[in-house]
Amino acid sequence: MNRFRSLLLGAGLFFCLVLLSLCLVGSSAITATGRKKTPHTFTDVPILNYHKVDDYVHPLSVSPEQFEQQMAYLAQEGYTAITPDQLMENFNYGRRLPTKPILITFDDGYLDNYVNAYPIMKKYGFTGIIFIITDLVSQDSRYMNWEQIQEMKNNGFLFGSHTLSHVPLTKVSDERLRRELVESRQLIKNHLGQYPKYFAYPTGAYNRKVQKATREAGYVAAFTIRYGQAGINSDPYGLERIPVFRCPSTQQVFEARLTRAPLLERLGLVKH
Ligand SMILES: [Zn+2]
Repeated sequence: MNRFRSLLLGAGLFFCLVLLSLCLVGSSAITATGRKKTPHTFTDVPILNYHKVDDYVHPLSVSPEQFEQQMAYLAQEGYTAITPDQLMENFNYGRRLPTKPILITFDDGYLDNYVNAYPIMKKYGFTGIIFIITDLVSQDSRYMNWEQIQEMKNNGFLFGSHTLSHVPLTKVSDERLRRELVESRQLIKNHLGQYPKYFAYPTGAYNRKVQKATREAGYVAAFTIRYGQAGINSDPYGLERIPVFRCPSTQQVFEARLTRAPLLERLGLVKH
């Protein structure tokens, strides 16, 4: 009986060893080939562009109710908010993104971004980047102050530059162009401890000279107000976005602009 038991134990042990070695061989094969053979996966990413989130009746001002409806829609549709770093890692190295990535951006740094948009985005687990006009921070009560910006940064939000004074960069001298780019970047570093990597062109105005100066100032990418998704064919200093406007049917237009962007691109109706 004892002999039978030890035979059984031996056979069991042998079976386990065979299984284990099969697993090891299998997993190393997957790892080895997976690393080598996984093709780079470049993904087109919709980048939403908001300005104000308040009840002020203006095309650039989405009401908090409309904003919440839009965030709820994104959550329900399975979107994951990504950071510009994730976008650039996909863009430059093909690093994989979540299945339905979306980048949420705000221009100008209005106080309502902190008061209204921030709690709603937190509720849905979304993050985003806000491009601030540094001369107005802590100076104009309609805009956020550095404490509010720091609090949002501590909670996963990013801040980029939108110049010192929001001047259209195609209309200024070379010296002013450099100052608007470099000094706003330095001010953000002084207050937040890190240089901002990203920039948004005020009023969307840019040309080759402005793009070159933006790169030379140290930014790694810049956002425009040209309609479209950002993807492998995008210029990193000319990234397309999907502006979100208030209009009589804000939610329908929001959904249409978001979902039609890939189709319009395939038809060659947007971008270049
Ligand atoms: Zn702006």
